Amino acid sequence: MSTPTIENYTKRIWRLEEESEDGNVALGALAQSLGVTAGTVTSMLKTLSEAGLVDYRPRRGVRLTNRGRALALHVLRRHRILELYLVNALNMDWAEVHDEAEVLEHVVSDKVLKKMEEKLGDTSLDPHGSPIPNREGVIEESRDIVPLVDVESGEDVIIAKVREQNADFLDFLAKHHLKPGTRVKVKSVDRQAGILVLKPMNEDAVTLSLAAAAGLDVH
Ligand SMILES: [Zn+2]
Repeated sequence: MSTPTIENYTKRIWRLEEESEDGNVALGALAQSLGVTAGTVTSMLKTLSEAGLVDYRPRRGVRLTNRGRALALHVLRRHRILELYLVNALNMDWAEVHDEAEVLEHVVSDKVLKKMEEKLGDTSLDPHGSPIPNREGVIEESRDIVPLVDVESGEDVIIAKVREQNADFLDFLAKHHLKPGTRVKVKSVDRQAGILVLKPMNEDAVTLSLAAAAGLDVH
């Protein structure tokens, strides 16, 4: 049994696990991330637990079982291949494909997905620079990635990944040539003023707030 809601929960738990120190996700953090009440999460976790997808202990929090993780990565793989296909094959704007993929990831057939992969050829990274899990459900980051906000001024880096996928932010990045793969120089970092100035190769310098810069990873 797998519904869009179940798939979305496993995907969200996976992401929060990745961000957590010990691999456990607090119920409150999950509820907040999904924008639902703790009561809603509790009853959904019961369903997920009965389906063998999560291991939930009130004090410790929730974590995915191997089965839950396999489902999360299966959905994530579909999501990212869909995004790549919408951008590369259908020429859609990278700021609008996430919402489309959120819907299509639950309904696209394996047959259609395979055709998309064949058409794409290289399916290692999605349009936002995140690795796409392979068929076996393995996700690998081969680049040596660091948050942009940790880079010191004067360093040359390449934009690797956009964490924050808000459409306005993606529009802003595209307008200023700050897409994954672009080489940029960090001209200055002013931690007191909370700003960072980036200079993409052959383009004008761009000033970002540190809050916005936190949406980018580089290598
Ligand atoms: Zn997305």
